[in-house]
Amino acid sequence: MLSAEKLLFELNPAQATAVSHAGGPLLVVAGAGSGKTRVLTRRIAYLMSERNVAPYQILAITFTNKAAGEMKARVAELVGPVAKSMWVSTFHSACVRILRKEAVLLGYSNTFSIYDSADSLRLITIVTKELNLDSKRYPAKAFQSMISHAKNELMGPQDYLNAASNQFEEVVADVYSVYQLRLQRANAMDFDDLILKTVNVLQRFPEAKARLRSRFRHVLVDEYQDTNHAQYMLVRELVGSQDEGIPPAELCVVGDADQSIYGFRGATIRNILQFELDYPKATIVLLEQNYRSTQNILSAANAVITKNAGRKEKNLWTDSGSGALLTGYVAENEHDEARFIADEIRQLQRDDKSRPGDTAIFYRTNAQSRVFEEVFMRNALPYKVVGGLRFYERREVKDLLAYLRVLANLEDEISVRRIINVPKRGIGDTSLDYIAHFAKAQEVTFWQALLRASEAPGLANRAMQSIQEFTSMIIALHILVEAKTRPSVIVEAALEQSGLLTELANSTDPQDEVRVENLKELVAVSIEYEERDSDELIEDEVISLAGFLEKVSLVADADEIPDGEDHGGVVTMMTLHTAKGLEFPTVFLTGMEDGIFPHSRTLGDNNELEEERRLAYVGLTRARHRLYISRAEYRSTWGAPNYNPPSRFLDEIPEEVIQWRNELSTSLSPSLIKRSRVAPPPRATGKKISTIQLLIGDRVSHDTFGLGSVVSIAGEGDKAEATILFGTYGEKRLLLRYAPVEKL
Ligand code: ATP
Ligand code: MG
Repeated sequence: MLSAEKLLFELNPAQATAVSHAGGPLLVVAGAGSGKTRVLTRRIAYLMSERNVAPYQILAITFTNKAAGEMKARVAELVGPVAKSMWVSTFHSACVRILRKEAVLLGYSNTFSIYDSADSLRLITIVTKELNLDSKRYPAKAFQSMISHAKNELMGPQDYLNAASNQFEEVVADVYSVYQLRLQRANAMDFDDLILKTVNVLQRFPEAKARLRSRFRHVLVDEYQDTNHAQYMLVRELVGSQDEGIPPAELCVVGDADQSIYGFRGATIRNILQFELDYPKATIVLLEQNYRSTQNILSAANAVITKNAGRKEKNLWTDSGSGALLTGYVAENEHDEARFIADEIRQLQRDDKSRPGDTAIFYRTNAQSRVFEEVFMRNALPYKVVGGLRFYERREVKDLLAYLRVLANLEDEISVRRIINVPKRGIGDTSLDYIAHFAKAQEVTFWQALLRASEAPGLANRAMQSIQEFTSMIIALHILVEAKTRPSVIVEAALEQSGLLTELANSTDPQDEVRVENLKELVAVSIEYEERDSDELIEDEVISLAGFLEKVSLVADADEIPDGEDHGGVVTMMTLHTAKGLEFPTVFLTGMEDGIFPHSRTLGDNNELEEERRLAYVGLTRARHRLYISRAEYRSTWGAPNYNPPSRFLDEIPEEVIQWRNELSTSLSPSLIKRSRVAPPPRATGKKISTIQLLIGDRVSHDTFGLGSVVSIAGEGDKAEATILFGTYGEKRLLLRYAPVEKL
């Protein structure tokens, strides 16, 4: 054990006060990098070694499992291995541990299962079907997010019904109540239940509450500004009040209202702003010295956050000197941005200023990592993507690629199996087993067997029908490949016709918004592939779907990435949300454009804009010594160039702390003026092709198949098809939306 002196070593007086404070609730509020997390860690060690608190009496809550692990390790450094038996965890894992013991009170057995978001969605879908709700008007995803929201507000089905103010909300209440019954019958809880049910236990069962209250004598919460109402009540109940027989637990929360970035998940800054009202005897400690960043970095961050209304002014300072100026860079496009950053990281390493392992790249949305990944891979610059998968490892990207593989090769059984029920078409594993047996018995391929599904023994009628719809969609898309359609058009057609896009677009789950962005990004990849300079093409290479897939699989091969052992570590890439609480010597804050960051979704809403600004504050304050800020003049979305104005947050950074590398902010360089005046070439994407109207008997000309006449037509909208008889090619069924046909 260490002496108190040692535990208070390298703490300023305010920090030391917080660490050694005993008794009533304690709130530490302070700006970024002022040592809040350090206070929490030291306080835990201090409790154990100076106040004889046993590890099992401590409950410490952090925001991510990673943060919990780090905190435990730091405490172990100070007090040794006893730290192991201490609960340092996220809200969710703490609740699971509590419920494994207490859930019997609520009628669950202690082996209850935990449903992840996909499981819960499946159950909601079943419920909506049972209630005969039209899935177009009432997508299951919408219910899922409304139910989740209700749970975060601690509203049960009955509360929800009582509060319902229109018919839709009454329907939601219905679904919610049946869903909840079904969960209970399945002895299962979804993520939000974990918190809600723990609060239920505490509120309804005084004995259980007493048990928990007498155990946890110390409750500590990091990143308190990001707690939602359910989490807030959980803390309140665990701490308890004086009149309950057991004295309240000592509560210590730390947070920064300026870093509240989870409003979209129901977190509320109110929890931190009104701490004094909720806990009238609270001690408030303010920390003002920042130990993380240089003055220039702090000045930039402070200037930006000041633009938010209704916040408490803070006075954050540092004595680490002004440090280097921030570096600004205006890239021509996202590739140029990534190249600049890769070059700069190399240069910093050559100059012995910063190693790749000391460097982080932040972006607003996951999809933005793709270009960085490609450029880094090409430059053999090792990297890792934190809190998200590498672009080509993401499920939705793999799904779409599997569609494309099938279109390029109908016999690719693995890919067919991957997509046949994505999105859900009611073709389950049993049906696929029947098909596989049939294929074996008939000695035909899996695809051939699918085409002959009606002959397969055992197959249910419904499954057979779905299989036929699936094969006919694939055949229609496959004709695009035969017709040598541009890969980007095929990618878009696959996205639209498969239903992948519709499924995600109808969802209100923020995760699915990310997935749509990733899929759009793959369209952009295909357009990049088409537009490579012709001198980049290898001899005999033609632009084709197969060529595109080949290129992608080379990039996607994870083995190609050097591990960075001898190269000064790996560059870390992550979204701004994931960056919370972390710090890096060198930081690149990218994509600083209105519409990217702040995100386009937030531009029209002042509250959301303020949340984006807090996110900018989080990003800026992660940097210790070097901070780069970049934007691109244009960037492709759906493959088309989009000119976004500079992020409004850039204007908020004082001119004197930033130096623009390419001087574009004040005077445009001649080459760039020229470039920016010449619009990039127009790109033909599926989006822009309007569907041609044809009648039976019309004579048409097709770019690849030549002259033909329309035999029959079917479908409508983006599914409109025509069967056309071509001279040498015979009859072809074409999806008109993507077919290069002209009426004669
Ligand atoms: P954030 O708001 O970003 O979560 P924070 O307030 O939790 O930041 P910490 O991560 O605890 O800040 O501390 C920031 C950095 O300053 C860390 O590297 C930490 O070790 C260091 N630090 C904190 N307090 C002191 C101190 N008194 N003396 C020296 N270094 C300190
Ligand atoms: Mg912290």
